[in-house]
Amino acid sequence: MAKFCGNCGNKMDSDATFCTNCGTSNSGVVKSTSSSDGSYVNGFAIAGFICSFLFAFVGLILSIVGLSKANENDGSGKGLAIAGIVIAAVNMFLGFILAIARVL
Ligand SMILES: [Zn+2]
Repeated sequence: MAKFCGNCGNKMDSDATFCTNCGTSNSGVVKSTSSSDGSYVNGFAIAGFICSFLFAFVGLILSIVGLSKANENDGSGKGLAIAGIVIAAVNMFLGFILAIARVL
């Protein structure tokens, strides 16, 4: 498992006490993180969130797809997808109430 110097970012052996590049002690070293942070953009979650205000049913579908995409990937857009589902559901509910109110 490779580590990186917290001072200069130099790659270090896991058992190294000092950075061979700048001499910083091992205490300031941060472990290497996975490469998949923040690079994935969840287009479905974004589209679903926007559509949920305008076209509740379309927004609901896109948000559900966005949520499953978020779970497949690194969780990017998960909050947005959930928000889209909730807003779309509220919108559909309000539309339903208004439709009944017009009939009555
Ligand atoms: Zn260093």
